[in-house]
Amino acid sequence: MSAKIIDGKKVSALTRDEVRQDVEDWMEAGNRAPFLQVVLIGNDPASDVYVGAKTRACKEVGIETDTMRLPDTISAKELKNTINKLNNDDSVDGILVQLPLPTHLSSHDVIESIDYRKDVDGFHPMNVGRLTVGQPSFQSCTPAGIFELLKHYSIPTKGKHAVVVGASNIVGRPVSILLSREESIGKATTTICHKYTKDLTQHTISADILVVAAGQPSLIRGEMVKEGVVVIDVGINRVADENKDKGYSLVGDCHFESVKEKASWITPVPGGVGPMTVAMLMKNTLLAAKKSIYPE
Ligand code: NDP
Repeated sequence: MSAKIIDGKKVSALTRDEVRQDVEDWMEAGNRAPFLQVVLIGNDPASDVYVGAKTRACKEVGIETDTMRLPDTISAKELKNTINKLNNDDSVDGILVQLPLPTHLSSHDVIESIDYRKDVDGFHPMNVGRLTVGQPSFQSCTPAGIFELLKHYSIPTKGKHAVVVGASNIVGRPVSILLSREESIGKATTTICHKYTKDLTQHTISADILVVAAGQPSLIRGEMVKEGVVVIDVGINRVADENKDKGYSLVGDCHFESVKEKASWITPVPGGVGPMTVAMLMKNTLLAAKKSIYPE
């Protein structure tokens, strides 16, 4: 078997088209454009790239955005005061603090200082808690993007064994919660693995759906999966490649060539989950502007 490709670029373009149309309708109804405030602390080049992609996507769908650049010497108190001002500013619909933060700042404290009604990343404990119990919430963008892909390709999850490799708060854990939840998509029997999982293959080999978000290139190889598995590779890793002008290639957490021979469906890297994350951020920002999740 050679897997069919789950085309994140295509589904992301469709999602962004929908958001663009919805933004147009929203403004035609007399509302102002949705506004996303990005807060970028320090000079991390990777964060610059991610923020660039997010702000370009905003422009494309008609969402207004601004990036507030703050020095990496900013104190926790100064940052909290800045976020408070944004929380109280009615012209700001969504607030996104780009992670990772400089080491002297606690990401938990910073995320919790954002008004959960403007938390378009879906990282605030209020949103994570509501997601866990099945209440309307901002869903973090990568897990939500994975679900959009599963829905688009009508990939069933009910009663399947879903194995998630990686247990971070932003990807692995929320994906596992969504997969196990009692919803139209979900209802899977879910296993979540992390660094201390003994014998990873014992779990991955029994997966009907395998989501890998570990940040380890080629962690999953063909011999670790069963025939027909659906593979969602979230990992984005830079590996040295002298054939590329940039000197590196982007690869996922799966060894694509060997895994695709056994999978029924697979996301490529790049062009799989990555584009969906940005599209879901657009969707969340529009929901924040419309106050759809938390009506006043
Ligand atoms: P983190 O580093 O926060 O978490 C990685 C998780 O993987 C941890 O739970 C860790 O376990 C687990 N892990 C690491 N090594 C192994 C291993 N050998 N076996 C089993 N589990 C392991 O990463 P993120 O969740 O933020 O990101 C994961 C990957 O996804 C990265 O490559 C990142 O670049 C990519 N990413 C892609 C996005 C997209 O839009 N496509 C968005 C966000 C991330 P433990 O908990 O024990 O430490």
